[in-house]
Amino acid sequence: MLRSGQFSDLTLVCQGKEFKIHKVVACPQSPVFSAAVSGEFKESQTGVIEIELFDSETVRRMVEFLYTGNYDCNQPQEQNTDTLTHVRVNAIADYYGIHRLTLLANQKIQQVYQDKWNAKAFLASTREALDNTGDKKLHSVMALLAAQHLEELMASSKMADLVGDFAAEVLRYHALKFEATKQEQHQKAAVLATTQAAEAKTARVIANIDRLVTTMCDREYCRNTACEMEFGCHIEKLAGDEPNYVLRCSYCRCRH
Ligand SMILES: [Zn+2]
Repeated sequence: MLRSGQFSDLTLVCQGKEFKIHKVVACPQSPVFSAAVSGEFKESQTGVIEIELFDSETVRRMVEFLYTGNYDCNQPQEQNTDTLTHVRVNAIADYYGIHRLTLLANQKIQQVYQDKWNAKAFLASTREALDNTGDKKLHSVMALLAAQHLEELMASSKMADLVGDFAAEVLRYHALKFEATKQEQHQKAAVLATTQAAEAKTARVIANIDRLVTTMCDREYCRNTACEMEFGCHIEKLAGDEPNYVLRCSYCRCRH
């Protein structure tokens, strides 16, 4: 139906391209299209809606979504990883009130940066988002990503263009403080690891001595069946970094 334009009763015109669509598909998904074709507007007479704020590729993606619930699924990977494209889709969806399409574009943006972070693309896409879409959810997505990559972004002068000089200065100090806190945590973790290793070593030495004392107290005869003398022993220190002792039978020298 989308490809053939059969029974089309609504045409979108953008940059000289025509998209022949159906009111029954478009209107339930977009309160803006719905109002345009059912009110006293020129569009309701002509069945033509001129789109000037967006480029024809963005309109094509919106139309694809209206009919399939997705867009650019079979396109090459490069196109799907261009977040600027998705920001533009979000903007047209926000403009025409196609809520589910704003969410889909946002998901795609998050997925792209989750797979491969790219500061330069992020800065350009955020600029586009702030200038051209009113979708607060997308602004929030971009703000969270910025916070997660703050140190790297602060190195770019574009970040100050984006948030303003004063906010950039505040963020720079915050990033420095964050870095200092991180180093402090590393040091604390190193001290803790050393302490824990020392405690474990002490526990091993005490367990070793405990075992010797228990054996000396409890054993009556040598465990060696060839010996079986009344148990008498001496203590031998084993080679190694930490204290480790064994008992040896004084007669047959077997280990206990
Ligand atoms: Zn013995």
